[in-house]
Amino acid sequence: MSSSISPLNTASDKLICDSLWTGATLVTMRDGSYNLIENGVLAVKDGKIAWIGSEEDSPKFVAGSRHHFEGGIVTPGLIDCHTHLVFGGDRSAEFEQRLNGVSYAEIAAQGGGILSTVNATRTASQKTLFEQARFRLAPLLAEGVTCIEIKSGYGLSDESELKMLRVIRELAETQPVRVKATCLAAHALPPEYHGRADEYIEHICQNLLPQVAAERLADAVDGFCEHLAFSPEQIERVFKAAKKLGLPVKLHAEQLSSLHGSQLAAQYGALSADHLEYATEQDVKAMAESGTVAVLLPGAYYMLRETQAPPVALFRQYGVPMAIASDANPGTSPALSLRLMLNMACTLFRMTPEEALAGVTCHGARALGLQQTHGSLEVGKVADFVHWPVERPAELVYWLGGQLPCTVVYRGDVRS
Ligand SMILES: [Zn+2]
Repeated sequence: MSSSISPLNTASDKLICDSLWTGATLVTMRDGSYNLIENGVLAVKDGKIAWIGSEEDSPKFVAGSRHHFEGGIVTPGLIDCHTHLVFGGDRSAEFEQRLNGVSYAEIAAQGGGILSTVNATRTASQKTLFEQARFRLAPLLAEGVTCIEIKSGYGLSDESELKMLRVIRELAETQPVRVKATCLAAHALPPEYHGRADEYIEHICQNLLPQVAAERLADAVDGFCEHLAFSPEQIERVFKAAKKLGLPVKLHAEQLSSLHGSQLAAQYGALSADHLEYATEQDVKAMAESGTVAVLLPGAYYMLRETQAPPVALFRQYGVPMAIASDANPGTSPALSLRLMLNMACTLFRMTPEEALAGVTCHGARALGLQQTHGSLEVGKVADFVHWPVERPAELVYWLGGQLPCTVVYRGDVRS
């Protein structure tokens, strides 16, 4: 076995790497498929995958460290490409009230709903928001997430949106996970702009986004295109402002009704359109043409007891890549497990386990513009991967909840 090679042996026919990983089946997820390599060998150098293949084809390596798994599978690190992990408070009390028969109207009259989260986020200190987000991030990391997107959108004022984005940056700088930050100021209308949605949109475009760009606080700009949020015309103004600042866009679209926000997103070359329960064939065609990823969020579908599933068959037919994410947020998807979302995507949306796994690896990477560096086990990509002591990849999707034991490798090193 390869572990018999001395690390001091530097004969010229041997390749030098920092670490060598053997003994498991590699689930590469290349091109969105399992693309298995049995008896896999994976060599890491400078935090990237330097060689990958089967033991039979493997050259001899001089390795800084050797790690032999007794079976099991290795997948790319999981990518959660749509979350709202930073927010003040939580809404478990509302959840309980609703199930005890209190109506939405009564809860709203008490200041509940999204505005309660906005208030709690505005009054919380940066330190409190950071600690609460870290608490929610921990279970995601424990189950193999190595890359996560986090949105602002509960501040809805310059000061509080910037505070949220700074918390996201602090998470990026301190936590062992790749973080992509998204500015979602166009999430809901702040109470002080009641009846003046156009003015709020104007403020985002003229004041907030330039500050966000100047401080490099966001990697993308997002919005919520819906009757209860913003119209396609208002979202388009945000997209134009983002484009002017060189920021890519994404959109919450077609979640509750069909406004064709996803076509607008496609028109602006959006990285992704997200939710999409009410997307039409025209929407799907437009997304296919622009290469916009469909991010599907089964947690919100489940919590809202929605009955119209996103048009998975159309996404397949037109070749639109489908990503899956937790949408972790206090109102409609308090999800702290991405693996549970895989099961829900299969059970509720009838995706296959292979499609679901592609949704949190290679297509999740594409939804964040990271497809060149993340999302599959290929030479040159960042060495983020997870070993699972299971026999086949479908098990990651099949087991309902719980915490599967796993070894997470982040940028070439085992993450503790
Ligand atoms: Zn969302």
